[in-house]
Amino acid sequence: EGGGDMAAGGTGHLEDLCASGAGGLALPGPAPSAPCCPHGPTLLFVKTSQGKEEGRRFYACSACRDRKDCNFFQWEDEKVSETRLVAREEYNRNHQPPFTHRQNVERCKNFVRLPLPERRFCQECQQLLLPAEWEKHSDHQILCGISTAQLQSPSQLLYPLENKKTNAQYLFADRSCRFLLDLIIDLGFRRVLSVGTPRLHEMIQSKASQEDFRVRSLLLDIDFRYSQFYTEDEFCHYNMFNHHFFGGEAAQETCRKFLHQDNGERVIMVTDPPFGGLVEALASSFKKLMAMWKETEKEGHNNQEMPMFWIFPYFFESRILEYFPSFSMLDYQVDYDNHALYKHGKTGRRQSPVRIFTNLTPSLIVLPVEEGYRFCSVCQRYVSSGNQHCEICNSCTSKDGRRWKHCVLCKKCVKPSWFHCNNCNCCALQSHACEKTDAGCFVCGKAGHKRSSCPSLSRA
Ligand code: SAH
Ligand code: ZN
Ligand code: ZN
Ligand code: ZN
Ligand code: ZN
Repeated sequence: EGGGDMAAGGTGHLEDLCASGAGGLALPGPAPSAPCCPHGPTLLFVKTSQGKEEGRRFYACSACRDRKDCNFFQWEDEKVSETRLVAREEYNRNHQPPFTHRQNVERCKNFVRLPLPERRFCQECQQLLLPAEWEKHSDHQILCGISTAQLQSPSQLLYPLENKKTNAQYLFADRSCRFLLDLIIDLGFRRVLSVGTPRLHEMIQSKASQEDFRVRSLLLDIDFRYSQFYTEDEFCHYNMFNHHFFGGEAAQETCRKFLHQDNGERVIMVTDPPFGGLVEALASSFKKLMAMWKETEKEGHNNQEMPMFWIFPYFFESRILEYFPSFSMLDYQVDYDNHALYKHGKTGRRQSPVRIFTNLTPSLIVLPVEEGYRFCSVCQRYVSSGNQHCEICNSCTSKDGRRWKHCVLCKKCVKPSWFHCNNCNCCALQSHACEKTDAGCFVCGKAGHKRSSCPSLSRA
């Protein structure tokens, strides 16, 4: 059963918002003088208990919500000794990848010169090996005979990082990836800034190498394993929670140049962030990427925004609109390969709760009729087949693809499984606990579990 609405995300849920599970985000972006962990500038969180802010603020890692992945912690008002600062810098240096991007590109060049049987990939270290390194990996699982085709599909070669709290790598099903790319082409875009969408990037790259194909892509992702397969013009090691380019000014310049080509025209940003992520931090980074694009405009797209597809579950709609009021949510259900929950819902399987949010005019975005979408001429957009136009709301109101029903008392459409409760004075599941006392899950709004274990995000 899909999630509830994000209206449930009141202050009582702030607890769920942060790394240690003990606070909420104090500032949407990195604070001006934030200390750094290996993942770039940290974010400022507020310690809360029972939904009440206690006021004490602290810095923690922006990227890792699991303390096991990055245990950076510092009170905002804490005095940090010179020794500790030096130790921290050294720690951050030591926790960078063993090879630089430049080195990895060089290694890859040497790798492709090897005869097929000598092209080996260490599955344990997730690394292409050169002959001199074979011995060091002799008791590791090795994949031999890595073909050019395999090098062109790194998302198939690398194992998906499924660590829910940090990387949460959920790869597009082929159908959804094709749909996105066809849509991008039909809309006339020539460049795609792929932020956390390695599979889309890969589809574009391999098409570009095979045929006369004009679309280009730049991948921004925190997964540094991809630097083994892409040059510095094709991939930037990037943290989308703090807008940090690990490659420094040079990498930032690559991104800027990419956005500024052709006077900034015909470029779209596509992003599919981890769902457990902090919407406000993501929004702040995306606004910076949009601003980077805007710097370009000599004249021309005056008050325009860089076109964008933000792929995210429907129950985050109100949070996303808070930061991007010009966005609308499309009915298209995005499918994933390695996520049991997110398969397309025709044949009795579960429906995907993941949608596309965009600042493009919804009527321009044609959804596949053969997958059951239809055009609503009143709403001027494509909707799910089950999404009935409500005469009272004057809109196609379903969010999850099922047919919703109008409640005259609530003055809006609600899920088919809900009933109006006179006690609570709103619609809810029949089984709900009246006058809900304590806050439910931050993601789905239901009681009994926290965001980290929300079944709507992780049930496999
Ligand atoms: N559906 C997409 C993958 C989405 S999974 C596809 O098939 O292409 C989320 C992606 O975001 C992963 O590639 C992951 O490595 C990346 N990611 C996770 N945390 C990130 C961060 N802090 N900064 C940048 N990218 C991140
Ligand atoms: Zn960190
Ligand atoms: Zn309609
Ligand atoms: Zn209605
Ligand atoms: Zn009730």
